[in-house]
Amino acid sequence: MKTSLARFCAFCKSTRMVYSKKHVSLIDAFLALATSLLLSFIVWQEFDPRLVIFFALGLGLAEVFIIFRWRLSIACPHCGFDPVLYKKSPQKAAARAKQHLDARRANPLSAFQAPLNLPVIVKKPEASAQDHKVVSPTKAGKPAAAPAKKTNRPPTPGAMR
Ligand SMILES: [Zn+2]
Repeated sequence: MKTSLARFCAFCKSTRMVYSKKHVSLIDAFLALATSLLLSFIVWQEFDPRLVIFFALGLGLAEVFIIFRWRLSIACPHCGFDPVLYKKSPQKAAARAKQHLDARRANPLSAFQAPLNLPVIVKKPEASAQDHKVVSPTKAGKPAAAPAKKTNRPPTPGAMR
């Protein structure tokens, strides 16, 4: 079973290796058991039921290590985009990617790295001009009519009491 897979970054579209394993497997549990048996024979020179402590400790450490390894590999090393952080807070993910890109820009060695395929935001000049035209007459003419409409409305049952 492969533990790391090539994945595309959702932001810069470059490939990166991501650990696919997120939790301990049966093999890890078996290895923790073998280690605890060995430690039991080293410490007490016999099979001792207290090896359960070593087993639980080994399994816990393995789980923490695997989670940390997966979490550190999930962020893109090229642009700094973190999909896990993006799911929690898109603003924080954008700030981190911006910080990473600023650091990359400031580093003169980045000239030798592969260029990033960052998304380009294209402004639509026609749509924005049209929006402006629609907004400006309403701003000039409508506000006088809007409060009048409010006052013409019959009072609500709650206000009559
Ligand atoms: Zn990226």
